[in-house]
Amino acid sequence: MVRFTVLASGSKGNCTVLSGGRTRILVDAGLSCRELFRRMQLAGEEPATLNAIVITHEHQDHVNGLAVTARKLGIPVYFTEGTHRAWMRWLQPRRQMSYAQWLEMVRKQAAERQAEPEAEVVENDLLDESNEGSLTPLPVENSVQTAAASLDQLPDPSCDTAPDPASDASDGRPPSLKDDPTWLPAIEYFQPGEPFSIGDICISPFTIPHDAADPVGFVFSSEGVRLGFATDLGYIPPNVREQLRDLDLLLLESNHDLEMLRDGPYPWSVKQRVLSRVGHLSNDAASEFLAADYDGQAAYVILGHLSENNNLPELARVAAERALLGRASLLANRLLLAAQHEPLSAISF
Ligand SMILES: [Zn+2]
Ligand SMILES: [Zn+2]
Repeated sequence: MVRFTVLASGSKGNCTVLSGGRTRILVDAGLSCRELFRRMQLAGEEPATLNAIVITHEHQDHVNGLAVTARKLGIPVYFTEGTHRAWMRWLQPRRQMSYAQWLEMVRKQAAERQAEPEAEVVENDLLDESNEGSLTPLPVENSVQTAAASLDQLPDPSCDTAPDPASDASDGRPPSLKDDPTWLPAIEYFQPGEPFSIGDICISPFTIPHDAADPVGFVFSSEGVRLGFATDLGYIPPNVREQLRDLDLLLLESNHDLEMLRDGPYPWSVKQRVLSRVGHLSNDAASEFLAADYDGQAAYVILGHLSENNNLPELARVAAERALLGRASLLANRLLLAAQHEPLSAISF
């Protein structure tokens, strides 16, 4: 069975669980680990059964809980190399330090580590996940680390009490989140345009126009079911149109209503950014695609990443309904809206 559960969608956090065959992946980790696990349980999903995390791009609403969640579950994270580098830069400190200050801080951290009893070192991983970052040198870039945990070594999936599973690794304890907020149990790189598999799920990443380092959308396929995933894009270029065909499910951004955005509270520079070719899709742009370029094949069309300030669910829905007019039937194009604050009911095939 293939199952698709949007746990959250919008500028305060994005997370979706996709199951196919014996594989279960998380697409983006934009909620805190605690909230992510809470919503998974609400939606009847078991966090400990996740096999991997796949990331679309490094914006905070897509990676906010990434490090804590990956550490907690001991599972690999799939990025493009550009997104991984940008994520690591995002976690680095914003302040400048002299070399002498840096040396002093590293010495202090080493002394603290030596003095800490073991239990406290584990607890440190549970500290604030919005960590400001430290000056600990980065792990060597370009390297692919190996997975530290297998499915049968899954930890108790609680963000509060479970020890970091990677702490048991025989090659030594991983750095605490405080010491190295960029450490992950395992990192795998993929490239837009080059399909790859995670267990029973095949993943085709494609480039999308958005103001991030190397943002992607995905087409997932498993058991003959194809699911398209395209949020956070300024417009729909031909390569994206090409990908979003022959789908059983389409998750498409319908971010803002143009008038609400123009008249709304955002500063002009932010409005310009959202409206730009590397910003977000408006209700009109999503509808235009649905009316003119979409092949009408999907059983479900889910509108996602709706702005809470510059959109209303009803405006997005009505625009898409109009665009899909004549195509909606009992079997195709059932229109759903993904929400920010509660999971959407699981969709199964
Ligand atoms: Zn986003
Ligand atoms: Zn984004």
